[in-house]
Amino acid sequence: MARVLDVYVGGGFRTSKASDTIEVTNPANQEVLVEAPYTTMEEIDEAVAAAKAAFLEWRTVPAPERARLMMTYQMLLKEKQDDIAEILSQETGKTFADAQGDVWRGIEVAEQACNIPAMIMGETSENVARGIDTYSLIQPLGVCVGITPFNFPAMIPLWMFPLAIACGNTFILKPSEQDPMTPNLLIELFYQSGFPKDLVQVVHGGKDQVDALITHEDTKAVSFVGSVGVGQHVYRLGTDNLKRVQCMTGAKNHMIIMPDASKDQAINALVGAAVGAAGQRCMAISAAVFVGEAKQWIPEVAEAMSKVRPGAWDDNGAGYGPQISPQARDRILGYIEKGKTEGANCVLDGSDCSVDGLPDGNWVGPTLFSDVTTDMSIYTDEIFGPVLVGLTAENLDEAIQMINDNPYGNGVSIFTSSGGAARKFQSEIEVGQVGINIPIPVPLPFFSFTGWKNSFYGDQHAYGKHAIRFYTETKTITARWFSSDAVASANMTITLK
Ligand code: NAD
Repeated sequence: MARVLDVYVGGGFRTSKASDTIEVTNPANQEVLVEAPYTTMEEIDEAVAAAKAAFLEWRTVPAPERARLMMTYQMLLKEKQDDIAEILSQETGKTFADAQGDVWRGIEVAEQACNIPAMIMGETSENVARGIDTYSLIQPLGVCVGITPFNFPAMIPLWMFPLAIACGNTFILKPSEQDPMTPNLLIELFYQSGFPKDLVQVVHGGKDQVDALITHEDTKAVSFVGSVGVGQHVYRLGTDNLKRVQCMTGAKNHMIIMPDASKDQAINALVGAAVGAAGQRCMAISAAVFVGEAKQWIPEVAEAMSKVRPGAWDDNGAGYGPQISPQARDRILGYIEKGKTEGANCVLDGSDCSVDGLPDGNWVGPTLFSDVTTDMSIYTDEIFGPVLVGLTAENLDEAIQMINDNPYGNGVSIFTSSGGAARKFQSEIEVGQVGINIPIPVPLPFFSFTGWKNSFYGDQHAYGKHAIRFYTETKTITARWFSSDAVASANMTITLK
């Protein structure tokens, strides 16, 4: 049996008392890397109690001191970014370049958390009535919970705990059971940066551990990132238990290709956004809408896609890695078959894909469908693989309507050379993150990650100003000090107006 990954419960990393574990495998060859324990309910209670106790002290630490610790952490993450990326590549199968990107996008959020003193300043209004001032304090909530998916095991935990901690909270992280080694390493480095013990606890497991954290009477807020079905469950359970909840969920992201777009730029961007990271990105482009004459470019899209090949993490020529698990691969293959039986035209079929020297990897080749209609399951469902579905529209209005009718609203993109078309698109499209001649418009951390519709449940989004509001409470103080008291206590002569 492989090494069992530690949990961080009440005072430090240690072996869980769990009797059940899940194998964490390398998706390129099925090698078992570690076993992740299904943390026991007693350990969950212990983790919450330790985080609750640590909060009492941590909330009193001045924001500039919290920021200085975060700066040390951010520097350590930068120093170790390639070591983190190497572990991340092993457990996700991502190419090294993709893994480095995953780590870097997380470091950028830790960097933003270093600016916490300026981000948690309240407001003041002097003399709201005669002799009365009103001002606000921004204060932490307590024990916050983060539940993260497999596809960005560095970036998404880092979306959450650095900002929550910088705001003065404590945190319990339940990473994906499919790739928990990277999150454990992030937390080891966190403590190496000098943060006091128990600020962040790490528990491993699945549904039972998630539900226990959400329903625990001492947890205050839940940040979730994952699939739409689980997100809806987490949102309902969390709000039923009167928690503050934000759920970033699934997606079907479209790119509109206008006939006036720069063809090479559009095709390059489309292919990278569709198959990069094996299509396992919540902002991947999975539906292309070719407007008017642009549909003639479909064969060239297929040709460009056929040149991208999957491969091992350290294969410099590989465009992307394997799918996370055999189950994920089989699910994608199932959709490719469905697409064919539903009547779409499979222009490029990646179902029969192999990689030299890695016969047991979860490989799926780039796949392109044309003649797709909006009632087909390959269009309605998030496939989460390197599969692009091609649709057509007569004009921009029709394309916008199609996208607005889709229940998801994470990301969208338009490729055009017309400022008028782009402006109409940004104004009318009902999607939270919009790219104009940019395929994957993930905002940098001083903005927020603003998915809409079924891609998000809650009201405050991940990172940026939204996250500060999510992880804090505002206290509004109205104060009156009597001038007679001032005279008495100062025991001196002052002129009062
Ligand atoms: P998932 O929903 O299977 O798992 C996410 C987390 O929920 C994991 O920690 C898992 O252990 C836990 N979980 C799984 N089943 C559960 C259940 N029944 N009850 C409670 N908890 C449960 O998601 P995944 O497959 O790991 O990640 C891929 C999904 O995440 C895709 O749908 C993708 O679009 C989405 N995603 C969204 C964003 C975003 O910002 N909107 C970002 C990344 C990924």
